[in-house]
Amino acid sequence: MNIKNYINGEYVNPVSDSWIDNYNPSNGEIYGQIPNSINEDVENGYKAAKNAFLSWSETSLDERSKIMSKIAQLITEKLPELAAAEAKDNGKPLHVAKSIDIPRAAANFQFFANAITQFASEAHESVGHNAINFTLRQPIGVVGCISPWNLPLYLFTWKIAPAIAAGNCVVAKPSEITPMTAYLLGEILTEAGLPKGVLNIVHGLGTTTGQAIVAHPGIKAISFTGGTQTGAHIAKVAAPMFKKLSLELGGKNPAIIFADCDYDEMLQTTVRSSFANQGQICLCGSRIFVEASMYQKFKIDFIAAVSKLKVGNPFDTSTDIGALVSRPHLEKVKKYIDNAAQYGGKVIFGGATVSVDNSEDGYYLEPTIIEVQDNSCTLNQEEIFGPVVTIMPFNDENEVLAMANDVSYGLSATLWTNDLKRTMRVSKQIQAGIVWVNTWLLRDLRTPFGGVKNSGVGREGGFEALRFFTEPKNICIKYN
Ligand code: NAD
Repeated sequence: MNIKNYINGEYVNPVSDSWIDNYNPSNGEIYGQIPNSINEDVENGYKAAKNAFLSWSETSLDERSKIMSKIAQLITEKLPELAAAEAKDNGKPLHVAKSIDIPRAAANFQFFANAITQFASEAHESVGHNAINFTLRQPIGVVGCISPWNLPLYLFTWKIAPAIAAGNCVVAKPSEITPMTAYLLGEILTEAGLPKGVLNIVHGLGTTTGQAIVAHPGIKAISFTGGTQTGAHIAKVAAPMFKKLSLELGGKNPAIIFADCDYDEMLQTTVRSSFANQGQICLCGSRIFVEASMYQKFKIDFIAAVSKLKVGNPFDTSTDIGALVSRPHLEKVKKYIDNAAQYGGKVIFGGATVSVDNSEDGYYLEPTIIEVQDNSCTLNQEEIFGPVVTIMPFNDENEVLAMANDVSYGLSATLWTNDLKRTMRVSKQIQAGIVWVNTWLLRDLRTPFGGVKNSGVGREGGFEALRFFTEPKNICIKYN
């Protein structure tokens, strides 16, 4: 089937009539095509957004909120169809798409439908000057949203929802590797009554369509989630135009396990934080550090628990680990495994591709555990973004903190301990935007979300996102 762009409330073919193949990762087959959009398509999206802006920015908060709640409701009603589309397009288990991706996409719209009605700005009385200042938070205008393939509709809507809630109009591009649910969103937007042009979805490659969005002089802010190298490139293109930028980039997150933790809960959660979504979550704990006194026990139990995970077709209900998203990605991940010795580690579990019955050409890989000796090795320094984790022991808090921070990334960290003082010491010193203590991926959408160092700049989530998508203006009134 052919996916189309959604511009000015209509599904349209790409101007060039040029198309890109869309693959099904579970069997390697091409099952559709997506627009290979060029500058003109982005320009059409931009014009539609610009035309819609004045009216949308003046639409009452109640009305915006009502339309967004309707979008959330329709996503929930269409959950089975959307989840199946996500599993087919991405390779993730259907039950993951059903329980995580699609509910969260609905929650993103519902959350910002509510949040915008509570968003407020500040006033500063200039005492002694007979003046009052207040801050007007105005929408920016036309903004660009660009998202990756790992949590397709989840991350696409995480940007779009606050952008439109704040009164902006959007030109958005999902990943060309997983375009399907963003395509299906178009009909939901129409059905919910979102005015034409408020949200325009343009499909295509990063280097052409994505680049056209970032380089467009009329698109004043870019919210991007994806790889660190791409983020650096976007920053370079956007900087001379002084665009507002929110960059959510890669991670190489530490999981730090102290011997005093609740062991069973830690073990169960660590299996999840390592391999959920085939390890293709920017927040996965990919470097596991275990206190030396417990290391051997952990190693044995972790291998035993991971060996129970079933790699299989995304639509098989017993599947824990589906297919990786694409052949090039599988090859990239496999290269780290095949060169483990050279990169400083030894594979102690998994490491092989898997042939799944009736899906022999799918991109399946065993969950893989690599033991490393030194945190400076390539395996602990580079983001692999697949079902691969490293483990190594540590002796004390200072040593593990130094190792956790000795990496170019700083997205999230997970800490397992029951020692309150240590929790505070480590959490404060760890270089990351998010620290989970005795849990993982417990998300409250009001909290600031993002990373430090090479994991990005800016924060999404809650009012942080609404602040990003508005421009504060100080108005100073002298009254005497
Ligand atoms: P990617 O950088 O290759 O692509 C992300 C998006 O950017 C895609 O839509 C792509 O088409 C587009 N793009 C690529 N080149 C572009 C360019 N020159 N100009 C404009 N747009 C361009 O990333 P990916 O492989 O899709 O996703 C995986 C990466 O995303 C990993 O590094 C992962 O850690 C990161 N990620 C980060 C977060 C977070 O919140 N920090 C969340 C999920 C994924």
